[in-house]
Amino acid sequence: MTQSHGATLTEYEPIIGSSAIEELRQLARYFRGKRVVMVNSTRVGGGVAEILSRMVPILLEMGIRVRWEVIEGSDPFYKVTKKFHNALHGKQESITPDMFEVFLEQGRHNARKLTLDDDVVFIHDPQPLTLVDGRARRPDATWVWRCHIDVSRPHPGVWGFLQPYILQYDAAVYSAPAFVQRLAMRQVLIAPSIDPLSDKNRELEPSVIDEVLRRLEIPRDRPIVTQVSRFDYLKDPLGVIDAFRRVRRSVKCRLVLAGGPATDDPEAEEVLALARERAKDDPEIHLLMLPPQSDIEINALQRASAVVVQKSLREGFGLTVSEALWKARPVVASAVGGIPLQVKHGYSGLLVHSIEGAAYAIRQLLNSPEYAKRLGENGREHVRQNFLLTRHLTDYLVTFLCARQRSDTIHLDNHQ
Ligand code: UDP
Repeated sequence: MTQSHGATLTEYEPIIGSSAIEELRQLARYFRGKRVVMVNSTRVGGGVAEILSRMVPILLEMGIRVRWEVIEGSDPFYKVTKKFHNALHGKQESITPDMFEVFLEQGRHNARKLTLDDDVVFIHDPQPLTLVDGRARRPDATWVWRCHIDVSRPHPGVWGFLQPYILQYDAAVYSAPAFVQRLAMRQVLIAPSIDPLSDKNRELEPSVIDEVLRRLEIPRDRPIVTQVSRFDYLKDPLGVIDAFRRVRRSVKCRLVLAGGPATDDPEAEEVLALARERAKDDPEIHLLMLPPQSDIEINALQRASAVVVQKSLREGFGLTVSEALWKARPVVASAVGGIPLQVKHGYSGLLVHSIEGAAYAIRQLLNSPEYAKRLGENGREHVRQNFLLTRHLTDYLVTFLCARQRSDTIHLDNHQ
């Protein structure tokens, strides 16, 4: 199957209009020839890698010399960073002093490996946070910390440990208003985005959708309810199975839980095993562990679904929600993290708070196809206006420009 690579900016014009493209081009002129580095902890798996893989080619096309570096990890480091991730999301975790040392030691190792002398250094999430210790080497560079986690109720020990590093950045970027912390620094709100032209989101021929479902052995004999997510406790796959079983008491349907590995997530096997145990060889529950780069498969699964679910217990943003809405799919999702930005209850999907609530909402949508269709169509328009890659790039470029400004007035008058 052919894979789409980075699209050119002009290709987005029919979707978002020419003035938005022109605005982006104008902004990019301030950065022509400048060097930007993105740093995160994995090249595949999860929303951050998904965004960077689409964003980097477009920045290059706009003349910005961007590169994408991935820090090195080790099993103990990923175990620690996963615990930090959960703890920052407010999940109960036992954190011990030796974990901080593992984190710092890997940070020192990565600092020796990476030369970060670019004009803008953009660090994603906590894993590479301590690299900011090296910023003195180039004092005129702009350093931005991009937090993709819901840190509205963080574990105080982990947050307290990270805070001195965060404060060394020029700005911190969060996905939703509720995540902003009381920190004496510039804090910016930028919602993530999906790329409408990627293999994961572009239109697919019905024959391609049919072929994928056949290959994945998912019969089309009854409506399909799908959740696409890494196998992670916070995505609550077990809760999705329980909700599905309640729905099935009165409406025939199938459940697809599709997940894949992320190199920086050590819990996936364990959670998948628990989901298998809960599903107990139920022929109407399809648990799929998809290899990396299964973009067309995920696209086809979302498009083939009667309802897409995202029943997270905690969430940063939840790109999967925008992915489904862009395909005009009716969505049932938990009212956590950045999901309520995407799902306006009763307008662009249904927000839920429990397994029973999820079952009720799924059943409602399966029984009311006209209502479900309207929610999906509203959702697509909401995503078009708010959560596409082009808006995200515009916000990032403005942030790079403003991060070191000491006043609220930004002067955009020095471009060639
Ligand atoms: N994803 C994927 N394969 C999978 C599971 C998820 O490609 O098996 C993608 C999904 O389509 C989305 C991203 O990973 O683009 C997940 O982003 P999200 O913000 O929903 O959650 P995160 O994993 O970052 O917590």
